[in-house]
Amino acid sequence: MLGSGQLGRMFAIAARRMGYRVHTFSPDEDTPTGQVADLEIQGSYDDLDAVRRFASGVSVVTFEFENVPAATAQAAAEQAPVRPDGAVLHTTQHRIREKTFLTKAGFPLTPFRTVETSQDLAQAVQELGCPSILKTADFGYDGKGQARVQSAEHAEAAWTSIGRTPAVLEQFIAFEREVSVLAARGGDGVCVDWGVIENGHRDHILDVSRAPARVDLRVEAQAREIARAVLEELHVIGVLCVEFFVEPGGRLLINELAPRPHNSGHLTVDASATSQFEQQLRAVCGLPLGSTALLRPAAMANLLGDLWAEGEPDWLAACAFSEVKLHLYGKLAPRPGRKMGHLTALAPAGRTDAETALETVLQARGALARHGTFVRGD
Ligand code: AMP
Repeated sequence: MLGSGQLGRMFAIAARRMGYRVHTFSPDEDTPTGQVADLEIQGSYDDLDAVRRFASGVSVVTFEFENVPAATAQAAAEQAPVRPDGAVLHTTQHRIREKTFLTKAGFPLTPFRTVETSQDLAQAVQELGCPSILKTADFGYDGKGQARVQSAEHAEAAWTSIGRTPAVLEQFIAFEREVSVLAARGGDGVCVDWGVIENGHRDHILDVSRAPARVDLRVEAQAREIARAVLEELHVIGVLCVEFFVEPGGRLLINELAPRPHNSGHLTVDASATSQFEQQLRAVCGLPLGSTALLRPAAMANLLGDLWAEGEPDWLAACAFSEVKLHLYGKLAPRPGRKMGHLTALAPAGRTDAETALETVLQARGALARHGTFVRGD
């Protein structure tokens, strides 16, 4: 596993359950992945000899975030297969390349313009109108490297605020909802998906997800079809997430791709026959893919570092909800905005929607925030 965050951790847990050994490589130590891996290797992604040594000790390499440098993936690929391969990383780690790929392949996406000069910016603002959103081409996630452009006069200042690096200007979409489709493709080309998941963001960071999403059958079918076509077009071996905006009236626009398991798919761990992490393992190790059946409607709420503002959250209070599962990532420093864990709630037997699951998971998160009774070490 290149990378050592919570996605790698949940992958490692799934892998170890099935008898695999996991090595993780990243610049950090005592990491969420390293804590549950068989071997944690600390090294820089730019130290290509260290990357080669790591890769020579494993049978297959995968990654848990798409900002692994292309040269790192290449060095690893000299020693072991990298899945998905470096070409998928190359396309999806750069907004201009990703959007160009999607446009050329005919997928519907948020209208955008490439911005490399002040002239590009002025023209883009004129063509797309305001408000619009300026996003750096490289290394953006959870709203980082983004600035809203409220008016043409404000555009230069917005570009300066994100470092005046190559960027895309996107039209602001007054969406009805945000949804995602997680899909997986095996080495044999077989494709599966988990249906449509609905997402709520707060401050550009995912806050809650629910499955199934509240979309009609036509939107559901289209979203799933688009996701499968993206995996095929990119020849992905592994799991990939397609995030969409759903416009009023049901038109779908792709917001972005993530070539790996995704925060919106965390509820598959408790609610689906096969989780997104087990599926990534199956895909990259050449096993047949598992069933993606949703066993029960479910909802997930993220736990950000902000919850620690007044001390240790009240874990017992959240665990008192018998339908709630607590996941913590083993991160030592709870900074505001940092993803520390999540809660998943399953709907009561017989329910076909995620309404009660969402209420439960929000109540449990509310109970956590009350603090008080639990002291570390109790
Ligand atoms: P991103 O990191 O690009 O996925 O953006 C994070 C969140 O910001 C999205 O999930 C949306 O809630 C919001 N957002 C991003 N781009 C747009 C857009 N073009 N129009 C409206 N909202 C957006």
